[in-house]
Amino acid sequence: MGDPLILDGKATAKQILSELAADVEALRARGIVPGLAAVLVGDDPASHIYVRNKAKACEKAGIHSEVIRLPAQTTEPELLDLVRELNLRPDIHGILVQSPVPGDIDEFKVSVTVSVEKDVDGFHPDNVGRVLLGRPGFVPCTPAGVLELLKRYDIDPAGAEVVIAGRGNIVGKPLGALLIQKAAGANATVTVCHSRTRDLAAHCRRADIVVAAMGQPELITGDMIREGAVVVDVGVNRVEDPGTEKGYRVTGDVHFESVAPRCRAITPVPGGVGPMTIAMLLRNTVASAGRL
Ligand code: NAP
Repeated sequence: MGDPLILDGKATAKQILSELAADVEALRARGIVPGLAAVLVGDDPASHIYVRNKAKACEKAGIHSEVIRLPAQTTEPELLDLVRELNLRPDIHGILVQSPVPGDIDEFKVSVTVSVEKDVDGFHPDNVGRVLLGRPGFVPCTPAGVLELLKRYDIDPAGAEVVIAGRGNIVGKPLGALLIQKAAGANATVTVCHSRTRDLAAHCRRADIVVAAMGQPELITGDMIREGAVVVDVGVNRVEDPGTEKGYRVTGDVHFESVAPRCRAITPVPGGVGPMTIAMLLRNTVASAGRL
């Protein structure tokens, strides 16, 4: 195959943010400033970077953002009280609690406490159920970002064999549920693989579209990919690399060098699904502000 099409999430997200800026402007004309509150518990360095990037993107799109940083010793009742306060604030239209939360805090309880109407991450069971049933609601940002990226590059999953490697609650499972919907941008035949899958490579080899969402650095290699497939790499992994200034590099779940030459299209890491996730978060926040 020739050079694959690079599915440029960074450029696509930038385009989406500029489209959103127009929606934000229209809301402002109605006296509404969309507001996003991001709650960060503890000092996980990756979480700090994610939240900072989200806040920066908000600023670019004209969305008010607040980052609430809590110490690692924060208790579950304290965190839930804060979420309930945010639920009541009329200037906040979206609430996210950055995962992972440390200690004994039950993430499920947090998801259930965030108001369904402000659940811009799409983690509340009500919104999760809506995704499964194909009803309107907040779609989780990473699966939404994957679908939007495919759509903007005219890659239609209808009728395609899609293999999703990973059945996590925030990527693999909801993405599978979205792709099997009888709806535009979906209608795929989906196989969801996981760590107990007998032969991941065999599943991947017959796929038209492979989505890797495992958190396993470069596990998907060229020999696992059919000629002409589309490969979407959701993985974000830090691997030690003494040759770099930071001592590590960020890599996806796909071994880009061996996979790319076989593909019709592929997402890079970084610059693929990551920026799309943030764009979808902002899109959900703007939609929420327009509705409330
Ligand atoms: P997760 O909840 O831990 O799920 C990982 C899934 O991968 C599990 O279903 C696990 O199987 C499966 N898995 C692990 N090793 C495997 C193997 N060797 N073969 C087949 N399946 C395997 O993780 P997640 O939250 O979905 O995140 C997955 C990756 O996406 C991570 O790298 C994360 O950083 C990244 N991510 C990126 C974005 C973004 O915006 N780009 C957003 C969210 C997550 P079992 O269920 O059997 O354990």
